[in-house]
Amino acid sequence: MSLDVRTIALLGSLMTAALVLILVVAQGRSPRLLRDSMNLWLGGLVALLLAQVLFGLRGVAPDMLSIVVANTLMAAAFVGLALAVRRFLAITSRTWPLWLPVALIAVLMYVFSALLPSYLVRLCVVTGGMVWVLALFLRPLVGSLRRAGPVGQQVVLLSVVIAIVTLLVRMLAFVFGTATPVGLLDGTLANTATLTYLSIAPLLATVGFLLMCNERLMDEMVRLSTLDALTGAYSRRALTDLSERALAEARRYRRPLSVLMIDADHFKQVNDTYGHNAGDAVLLEIMTRLKATLRAEDFVGRIGGEEFLVVLPATPEEEAMRVALRIRERIAEQTLLYGREEIPFTVSIGVAERDPGEANIDLLVKRADDAMYAAKRAGRNRVLAASAVAAAAG
Ligand code: GH3
Ligand code: MG
Ligand code: MG
Repeated sequence: MSLDVRTIALLGSLMTAALVLILVVAQGRSPRLLRDSMNLWLGGLVALLLAQVLFGLRGVAPDMLSIVVANTLMAAAFVGLALAVRRFLAITSRTWPLWLPVALIAVLMYVFSALLPSYLVRLCVVTGGMVWVLALFLRPLVGSLRRAGPVGQQVVLLSVVIAIVTLLVRMLAFVFGTATPVGLLDGTLANTATLTYLSIAPLLATVGFLLMCNERLMDEMVRLSTLDALTGAYSRRALTDLSERALAEARRYRRPLSVLMIDADHFKQVNDTYGHNAGDAVLLEIMTRLKATLRAEDFVGRIGGEEFLVVLPATPEEEAMRVALRIRERIAEQTLLYGREEIPFTVSIGVAERDPGEANIDLLVKRADDAMYAAKRAGRNRVLAASAVAAAAG
């Protein structure tokens, strides 16, 4: 079978052009959360397209363009794609290790095409530089290789691994092979195979990248539908489902289960004094301090403006009281620094344990709520147990 190298290059650049168009449209409609990352990927594809066109013009256009500029653009394109992935994964380490090989390729390609022409040396330089960039590209994606890991990242990873292997095999085939290499356009098996793969790799990688974007959007949708946007606590609906499940489980295994109803004290006053944004910051801070106090199996929902419900599985009332007291203390002991203001804030907490027969979460929550209101009446910034409230009532 004989494949024409120039035809492969042409088809490759047509495919990349199509990908660029797809990305332009997709990018324009993407939510802000993905836009920067998509722009970088698009930039990478554009650089790749230019590189492919220049490669295809080898022998027609001056070597300066088809060798030096083309290879530099190709490496820069990989950097663009790598930056898109880094951005996506919120990696902020320095980027110069990615750009350094690009600069080296630019300089060395000039030296070994214009001053001391050698295809073999150029091949080694390009392989070394590209493998360097691709290895850095690959590193943040390795974490995706767990079971049920994100498929999009795995696809991108695969496309990069194959590219590295292909480039290395081609170099070794030339270095240890018998044929005297002439240039990119000589249709040796190594060149043809590499070029063929590098022509379809952008498609594979871009499909992977778009899958990554899609997975991110789906995660975001689930997050928005189950979590409160301000504090990250469960939304009321999600909390109802979760706590009903926890109650059913507690009944089945005859385990205790307690809930804490937490309400910020005089919160209207916090808003009135420091502004609504400061109030929001206090709510977020309450959530942060709650999470710092609770165990992994406990969960928190925001069930009203400044009201949180905490569910403590396998926890009897005395223990839940200790947790509640620790929460109250942790919140009251330190003010929140907001801008230049030090905002003091406190909470009142009602604690209730499920009764053995209790099948309905609403009744349990109601008892915690009553205890919380009793704590308010008793002066706020305190914790009361439903059992104590019931005993006092009579
Ligand atoms: P108490 O100690 O009796 O609980 O007094 P309170 O002022 O906290 O109670 P009240 O129910 O009168 O007021 C609750 C306030 O919480 C009113 C509302 O403006 C504020 N609030 C509710 N949701 C939010 C929110 O998302 N952000 C901010 N900043 N304020 C909120
Ligand atoms: Mg309140
Ligand atoms: Mg309230």
